[in-house]
Amino acid sequence: MILSSGSGAGHCRGGRRLPCRPSRSGGPRLWYTPGVLYPPWRLLGNNYDLHTHSSVSDGLLTPAELVAWAARRGTDVVALTDHDEVGGLDEALAAAEAAGIGFVPGVEVSVSWESHTLHVVGLGIDPRAPALRDGLAEIRAGRLERAARMAESLARAGIGGTFDAAVALARNREMVGRTHFARHLVERGYAKDVKSVFKNYLVKGKPGFSPHAWAALDEAVAWIVTAGGRAVIAHPGRYGLGPNVLARLLETFRAAGGTGIEVVTGNHTRDQIRDFARLAVRHGLLASRGSDYHGPGESFVDPAGLPPLPPECVPVWHDWTAGALQH
Ligand code: AMP
Ligand code: MN
Ligand code: MN
Ligand code: MN
Repeated sequence: MILSSGSGAGHCRGGRRLPCRPSRSGGPRLWYTPGVLYPPWRLLGNNYDLHTHSSVSDGLLTPAELVAWAARRGTDVVALTDHDEVGGLDEALAAAEAAGIGFVPGVEVSVSWESHTLHVVGLGIDPRAPALRDGLAEIRAGRLERAARMAESLARAGIGGTFDAAVALARNREMVGRTHFARHLVERGYAKDVKSVFKNYLVKGKPGFSPHAWAALDEAVAWIVTAGGRAVIAHPGRYGLGPNVLARLLETFRAAGGTGIEVVTGNHTRDQIRDFARLAVRHGLLASRGSDYHGPGESFVDPAGLPPLPPECVPVWHDWTAGALQH
């Protein structure tokens, strides 16, 4: 599930020499299929960061820049989990190869469940899997229409001309989202930074918000699972759910085939880490750890800059092995 492949001497990090095998250049695209154990995953360190974004969705760094930065910060295994899009995985994987760190192909799927918008991270997915590929394409198709509605809502509040500006900030036109609007509003002086925008704009009840129907929870989980991945509830502390609703969510999620929950994320407090570790154990869910890094100045922590998982948790990576990439 962790993919890593050497290219010459590049597969050496922190004084550790990992077994290397020259990769053939000019061959077909990389295949995300685990094969021979390579290198044995025990040789990788334990600093897993399984939730990051690139400019393919709403991160600031390109996939290659993001992975290089994660490696420099001391990440041993990184997952790229762009919103609703897998188009950055090839580039990220090549960068992980060059940096000599492990790579997990991922995605963060936007979901509507009851009256809530939730995010479900898929880890270890095969991005070519048809159901996942088609499902994500459908979600992306709705994003531009939503952006137009958001711009109309802002215009009604006296802030015009945001649609083209937000789309221009999205490197990937299909992936225009609230972060791009937020960056534009910062540029226009409506708030001092992206985080502050979300206090007065773009959230329920404020200018720039427009309700949207994302994927259903059970279908998002099914796309991930049929793509060979593990479905993980992202940043559960962000949704403001009470204990009963949360318990119902976790039961529903497990019944749909979900197997993990983020316990350590960039915006969980120490108390939340403790509480979600308990919930993971109670509901028999594997625990994940990810920064939700979006770029310099826009995240609570750098890649790899997170506390460890509490000891009672079973890590989502507990049974992963390193697969050789088939070039
Ligand atoms: P969207 O998928 O277009 O609804 O955008 C969701 C993204 O907006 C999240 O993934 C975050 O990157 C960003 N976001 C949402 N709420 C906040 C917040 N309170 N502070 C900073 N970024 C936020
Ligand atoms: Mn985001
Ligand atoms: Mn998210
Ligand atoms: Mn995220």
